[in-house]
Amino acid sequence: MSPVFHCYIHIPFCHHICPYCAFYKHKPGKLANDAFIAAILSQLDAEKSVLAEKLDTLYLGGGTPSLLSSVHLETLFRGLRPFISPETEVTLEANPATFDLKKARIMREIGINRISLGVQSFQTGILKTLGRDHSGEDAKIAFEILREAGFMNISIDLMFSIPGQTESLWQEDLDIVTSELKPEHVSSYNLTYEEDTEFLKRHESGELDENEDRDANLFYQAIDHLEAAGFGHYEISNYGQSGFESRHNRAYWTGKDYLGLGPGAVSTIHGIRAKTLPDTARFVESPTLKTEHETLTEEDRRIEAIAMQLRTREGLRINRVCSTNEPCSIETVLRSNPIESMTQQGLIEIRDERIFLTREGKALADPIASALI
Ligand code: SF4
Repeated sequence: MSPVFHCYIHIPFCHHICPYCAFYKHKPGKLANDAFIAAILSQLDAEKSVLAEKLDTLYLGGGTPSLLSSVHLETLFRGLRPFISPETEVTLEANPATFDLKKARIMREIGINRISLGVQSFQTGILKTLGRDHSGEDAKIAFEILREAGFMNISIDLMFSIPGQTESLWQEDLDIVTSELKPEHVSSYNLTYEEDTEFLKRHESGELDENEDRDANLFYQAIDHLEAAGFGHYEISNYGQSGFESRHNRAYWTGKDYLGLGPGAVSTIHGIRAKTLPDTARFVESPTLKTEHETLTEEDRRIEAIAMQLRTREGLRINRVCSTNEPCSIETVLRSNPIESMTQQGLIEIRDERIFLTREGKALADPIASALI
């Protein structure tokens, strides 16, 4: 069995719950973080046999992993240390106003070498609409603290398609990123109304609008601005300076196996997808208990590959479009109805036996993927 080179750790704590967020998260509450860290390390100990000697990537997401105290981060990384080499990409998601310079230095010292900073916007009104609990100034200060602590690989998360967000407000955000802060990576997501969120209810009641034309314009504005500033648009929502593309995300998109630790974390290992309990208190009692176990078929993997690889700069291999139940030739695929008509509409291009989204197609990635499945 081939070893697993990628690991994700879910830290579900957030000081403040954003009304659009559908991730598994909650306020820290009364649960002792000592017990939580011990549970993560206990799950690691029980499942470490699948891991490679050294990980290629380790990603701490959430929630807000930067809320963990320096002591808890140090304890956690003492357990992770045997799996980390100087080449391992170790990312921690951080929110502004959750760390100071002292803690940032400790994060760097224990081996974290990449930070994904959840900024979303620098605009007071937009942050208020999103229900974020930090200001644009807090985000700038957080970025400078990370630089001072020695982080030379920082990604900034931005969000667009927010009600009230004009092109000029979005442009101000993009300008601050490229002219003032100059991170190595930017993730730019459009706001979506997810199940079980306050935002979905407010959207359904008509309070928060959706406007596809506005969204597409803001999307193209980001592509044009970030590419002109030297960022490669290597996935629909991700832009990186050369050599700073996220290796962890690439592992997901190319169907690599990964181990998930922590409450609600998903693992995909040797064709089995499993999920730990999305309930922190129960996770602490039974860190290895899974709520879901699913055996992935070749057809499942093919459908996932279409949905994810089509979004990337490397495109999708044409033979992925052939159903695993009904093998077909590349010539047949090229003559098939969705491919021919989407090529004629200028939504996709075929080169080197791969399918690529055109500029117009990038704004319609999901419906195009559905048509190809
Ligand atoms: S800080 Fe991040 S994870 Fe926490 S509620 Fe807000 S968006 Fe969700």
